[in-house]
Amino acid sequence: MRAAYRVRLVANLVNGSTLAGVLVAAAGRARLARGQDGLLIGERYRLPVPPAPAFTLGNVIMTRIERDALLGQEALLAHEARHATQFACCAGLVMLPLYFSAAGVSWVLTGDFGSRNVFERRAGLADGGYADRPLRPALARWAARAGQAPATRWRRRRQA
Ligand SMILES: [Zn+2]
Repeated sequence: MRAAYRVRLVANLVNGSTLAGVLVAAAGRARLARGQDGLLIGERYRLPVPPAPAFTLGNVIMTRIERDALLGQEALLAHEARHATQFACCAGLVMLPLYFSAAGVSWVLTGDFGSRNVFERRAGLADGGYADRPLRPALARWAARAGQAPATRWRRRRQA
């Protein structure tokens, strides 16, 4: 195992996020199986929330499918592994309110919880099955006007 993955493993053990993952796996009657790079996979997670096909808490990746099927989905697995690293970088469960705030900002901007969510963008939108949605039309118009305004003023000043 690479040193960085070992650091992630220890960080998420110490910060409690992997323990939270193990408890959520138990609540969802998921069976824990060994993954790659110090990760655990909670396969056949059964609770209806969250509705995502996979999600991560600490070093535990929860999925509704079998471990081997998830291991075959390399892009999704890599996406969830990046979330495990984010838990280590955010000192564990502190990431949850940050993540939900980012999801809320993304929803306000685009109508989608992932598109402008910094955690999902950093984990790879396409790898996680997210679309890169544009700003809501009213916000896009406002941003376009705000972007033009200084240039217009500058041009006018320069002509004067
Ligand atoms: Zn994600």
